[in-house]
Amino acid sequence: MAKYRGAVCRLCRREGKKLFLKGHKCTSPKCTFEKRGYAPGMFGEDRRRRRASDYGQQLREKQRMRTTYGVLERQFRRHVRQAQRRDGVTADLLVISLERRLDNVVYRAGLAASRSQARQFVSHRHIMVNDRTVNVPSFSVRVGDVIKVKERSRQLGLIAAALANAGAVAAPKWLQADLSNAMVTVVDMPDPAEVETGADEQQVIEFYSR
Ligand code: SF4
Repeated sequence: MAKYRGAVCRLCRREGKKLFLKGHKCTSPKCTFEKRGYAPGMFGEDRRRRRASDYGQQLREKQRMRTTYGVLERQFRRHVRQAQRRDGVTADLLVISLERRLDNVVYRAGLAASRSQARQFVSHRHIMVNDRTVNVPSFSVRVGDVIKVKERSRQLGLIAAALANAGAVAAPKWLQADLSNAMVTVVDMPDPAEVETGADEQQVIEFYSR
């Protein structure tokens, strides 16, 4: 699958917002956005002053949300289409669908420093769901699922470092984290009202409803 290989801090600068894509560096004074909070490129500072069209704003919100969850366009569109087919508030259903992704759950529970690191842990087969290895980051968790880091993986450098810092951010209410055992249980569905997606979800839906 295609993958973004550029500097991730450029994405925050492009979206005009901190998207917390780099784990602990994001909360330190070294954060690039704190130093250069304007779009990258020669005319980045000028772009900040221009007013975007409705379409431009919706596009930016969509890109912001997609970048926050680290999902490529085709997969993101699939999340949107699934939300549109279900009964309920489409924007909320989209948030729930994205939150239930396994890589997001590993990150939200505090078992990884960022979503990209969580995705790496999953795709490198370090994560188990209900005692079975799952290496699909988009795997959608259900209530009752138990997610844990494999016992023999806990000593590996990156994972050990992530686990040593686990708990720095509290897990949301729908996840019951047991960090001493590198484990998390899904006890409820995510509540969209409590989720910070980094974007205006309604504008995202309007972008795809054109
Ligand atoms: Fe880079 Fe994180 Fe700051 Fe974004 S929030 S600019 S990813 S350090």
